[in-house]
Amino acid sequence: MKRQVLIIGGGLAGLTAALRLSAQGYAVTLVDQGSELGGRLLQSDTETLPVVVLGYQQATLSLLQTLGTASHVSFSNRLRLEFRLPDSGASGTARRVRWPRPLLPAPFHTILGLAFFHGLSRRDRWHLLMLLERTWEGDPPLPADLEHRTAAAWLTESGQSTDAANHVWNPLAHFLVGNGLTNISAAILIATLTRCFLTARRHAGLAIPDCDLRPLFLEPAHEKLLQAGVLLRLDTAVEHLRFDAHRITGVQLRSGGMLTADWYVAALPHRHLTPLLPERALTRFAYFQHLTKLTDTPALTVHLWLNQPVPAPHVLLLAERPFHWLVCRAEGESADRQTRVSLTATGRPDLLARPDQELLELALKEVVTAFPSAGVAGAKDYRIVRQPHAFLSTGAGTAALRPLQQSPFPNLFLAGDWTDTGLPATLESAILSGTLCAKAIQAKQTGTP
Ligand SMILES: Cc1cc2nc3c(=O)[nH]c(=O)nc-3n(C[C@H](O)[C@H](O)[C@H](O)COP(=O)(O)OP(=O)(O)OC[C@H]3O[C@@H](n4cnc5c(N)ncnc54)[C@H](O)[C@@H]3O)c2cc1C
Repeated sequence: MKRQVLIIGGGLAGLTAALRLSAQGYAVTLVDQGSELGGRLLQSDTETLPVVVLGYQQATLSLLQTLGTASHVSFSNRLRLEFRLPDSGASGTARRVRWPRPLLPAPFHTILGLAFFHGLSRRDRWHLLMLLERTWEGDPPLPADLEHRTAAAWLTESGQSTDAANHVWNPLAHFLVGNGLTNISAAILIATLTRCFLTARRHAGLAIPDCDLRPLFLEPAHEKLLQAGVLLRLDTAVEHLRFDAHRITGVQLRSGGMLTADWYVAALPHRHLTPLLPERALTRFAYFQHLTKLTDTPALTVHLWLNQPVPAPHVLLLAERPFHWLVCRAEGESADRQTRVSLTATGRPDLLARPDQELLELALKEVVTAFPSAGVAGAKDYRIVRQPHAFLSTGAGTAALRPLQQSPFPNLFLAGDWTDTGLPATLESAILSGTLCAKAIQAKQTGTP
């Protein structure tokens, strides 16, 4: 008889676990309290996230292959990270500077690119190149306590100027890690920069999917899960996880029913998981106690639909502005072609409290100053999405609190972008966590270490 797995949560983590486990021959049930799969990818009934896929995100690319939608994500050398630097000097004009990606193998593409990157002063580039050389030679090696320092402190110690931190590293940290330099650890910044810029050249590539996330991930995943015989129970909220001394014995639904299985995967945000656990699990196991210490970072997205041909596709990181990055995407067919510009700010709870009209004006002003030649006068339509719990905060010391997939209960596994994948809490982390859960269950089932 097939072994049964119950997965709670149908975001990318849960649906990846469901796809992988059903392919391995398990009888899978997936429950989610929402009326459709997708979790945080869904910003409203019609909008999904303005996602940018990075070349290093191998788990994401592998999931797209499984779903048959990889052709919607193509990396081109023309789409590159671009920085909008603040108005400088007497001229008072803002500069847009692109990150160079010379056609060289890693890490030489970054070393040469850095030498010609005019977003940093000559002195900052020199310090950085020296740091790379010293680290490469292990003389001295990177300090062991980087997880306990902020990225801001480490950059200062490494000789980066305040301008470099504010104009380049801070917007890059918001874009790659989801928060500013003072709110993330040096370790997560270094690990992410290393993955993007110092491994394969293709890992620094950027792609904006040419379709929405529903046809990209959610609709094909839904179809594949049904084809694989996965039982999908949407609009089904879990109220409690039931335990005896050693294992999970079942899942209590808010509607009153109870579900049981051989293996359980909780693919929920951490703040949704802890209320489902019995008090004694929280007091007895440091593994669960740690979850109560995790915190989240808010995000605000303003989507604007413009008639004007703003350059698209485009990813622009914004220094010392209310928003931290914007993504431009062309939408529709030739006659009613329009540009969608999505502006995102992370780690700014103050912005979430502002009225829509004020945020709309801020966003339009940003587009006008970023693309003065486009002559943007107004938006045809707009949507504002406030997410108080968008990303896991990865401040100094957080890594030790992020749980591995295997819990102290042998039949319970945790998935989610916030678990211990070593990555910032992004799509890639969510998808990887789902794959790791499937592998861990298979290894336990077959008794392989
Ligand atoms: C504004 C914003 C921009 C982002 N931009 C990017 C980007 O450009 N690139 C990138 O890689 N990532 C980005 N992300 C991050 C990405 O959205 C997340 O990492 C990913 O969607 C998390 O997936 P998940 O499965 O871990 O969690 P979730 O998507 O939160 O899934 C959890 C699921 O659990 C369900 N659930 C909760 N409680 C219960 C319960 N009691 N019973 C049953 N079900 C329950 C929820 O309904 C939900 O479907 C962004 C996020 C935000 C908010």
